[in-house]
Amino acid sequence: TDAPSRWLETVAASDPERLLLETGEGRRLNYGQMAALTRRLAGSLTALEVKPGDRVVAQIEKSPEAIALYLACLHLGATFVPLNTAYTFAELEYFLGDAAPTVAVVRPADRQPVQAMAATCGVKHVETLDDRGGGSLLDIAGTAPESSAHAPATLAALLYTSGTTGRSKGAMLTRANLSSNALTLAHAWRFSSSDVLLHALPIFHVHGLFVAINTVLASGSSMLFLSKFDADQVVRLLPRATVMMGVPTFYTRLLQHPGLHRDAVGNVRLFVSGSAPLLAETHREFQARTGHAILERYGMSETLMNTSNPYQGRRIPGSVGPALPGVEVRITDPDSGAPLAAADAIGMIEVRGPNVFSGYWRMPEKTAAEFRKDGFFITGDLGKRDAQGYVYIVGRGKDLIITGGYNVYPIEVELEIDALPGVNESAVIGVPHPDFGEGVTAVVVPNKNQTLQETEIRNALEQRLAKFKLPKRIVFVDELPRNTMGKVQKSALRERYRDLYN
Ligand code: ATP
Ligand code: MG
Repeated sequence: TDAPSRWLETVAASDPERLLLETGEGRRLNYGQMAALTRRLAGSLTALEVKPGDRVVAQIEKSPEAIALYLACLHLGATFVPLNTAYTFAELEYFLGDAAPTVAVVRPADRQPVQAMAATCGVKHVETLDDRGGGSLLDIAGTAPESSAHAPATLAALLYTSGTTGRSKGAMLTRANLSSNALTLAHAWRFSSSDVLLHALPIFHVHGLFVAINTVLASGSSMLFLSKFDADQVVRLLPRATVMMGVPTFYTRLLQHPGLHRDAVGNVRLFVSGSAPLLAETHREFQARTGHAILERYGMSETLMNTSNPYQGRRIPGSVGPALPGVEVRITDPDSGAPLAAADAIGMIEVRGPNVFSGYWRMPEKTAAEFRKDGFFITGDLGKRDAQGYVYIVGRGKDLIITGGYNVYPIEVELEIDALPGVNESAVIGVPHPDFGEGVTAVVVPNKNQTLQETEIRNALEQRLAKFKLPKRIVFVDELPRNTMGKVQKSALRERYRDLYN
């Protein structure tokens, strides 16, 4: 079957000199070199007795070698398991025990401590890759076998979810999931071999790894491959890029940069946003500054990409767009699962298609609980669809607040608060309350050098929201807790304020 590693080999065979990536330090790798590096790492893994279906865990810095390791796993039919570089040893120990990999590849400084825990986790080998083209995995002389891309049933990747709503789950993704979604995106977003993607995302997550890199490989294009998002560097390099993919915080940080203006983005044809909600206000400000309407899309570790605003046609601020070709999206009653056909009815977002994963690793009960009998996956995200088929996410099911028996969708309250003068942003959460079950609670970030009063906000909201939706308390903070993908950690906020009403 098709696979991103095959796409690499095809270009490497016909046009080996074609540039694949240039790093922020100016290191350049063409398709032929990446294919050679991939075969070399596939040889190393084979020498370490990695077989089709075996897991290879990687907790390493972003580098060309990290891409080659991913592609080497695809080549071998092994299962690639990327991990967030921020995970501590205690967390790593959990993931190693859960994934039970044959090989763990870590940063050089982590080798000893990981080796110490490897034996109890059943890990056979601990090797290293650094971010400068070195590491023990490269020193192992082995011979890469012919690609085992003929084993389509093997898992291509085990992708742990971000852990926003609870403990991370391993999403089992097949080669067909990866390739079908990449081809869909390359087509929907009009990728061609002349594109240059500005890549500043981490590559242990669905966005930077599968959406970005697989789409590049599917189209034979290239990337400016930056180790992290740095607004100065991004503004400097945007004139050389044709596409940028980012999380919403990239866009808010670019808007704070004086160098962002029409000339700087003159060469860019597409800005994509995802992984967390892009505020409609950010969308509008960005369009006013640059002339570009950011294209927002929606996906998750379990399903890759589900919906996207159109390349041609209306990109609606605040919407994640219609279902992508080949993907079915429906809205259902969260309790009964009955489809809600009426436009704008809020319910559970469910998806079905070749992009949808085959289940949670070693969690058969959880897997069974999250799929309907007809194959639709229950995303856990609440949303609605308008008459034109555009999807709007209203929040996660787990963030829904039930107060005195009433449902309150946090986003509705957040949008009202964000529109008030002096407010930068807000997060609305449910916190245990002795009378109401949960008390609607607003965590508000004022604009810089601004002080706001609880009563002043409450009074303003009283004109706008039904009484049961009004925050019982409003607290002020300097910033909201976010993870690397820019996702607001509402569970951390609920924990922080859990005694507010006691
Ligand atoms: P966990 O499942 O472990 O709680 P997570 O859901 O944050 O963590 P990911 O798979 O990385 O893990 O993220 C997918 C989620 O990100 C989606 O379910 C959705 O809630 C959110 N998301 C992705 N894109 C968008 C978007 N454009 N707008 C709003 N939310 C989005
Ligand atoms: Mg999730």
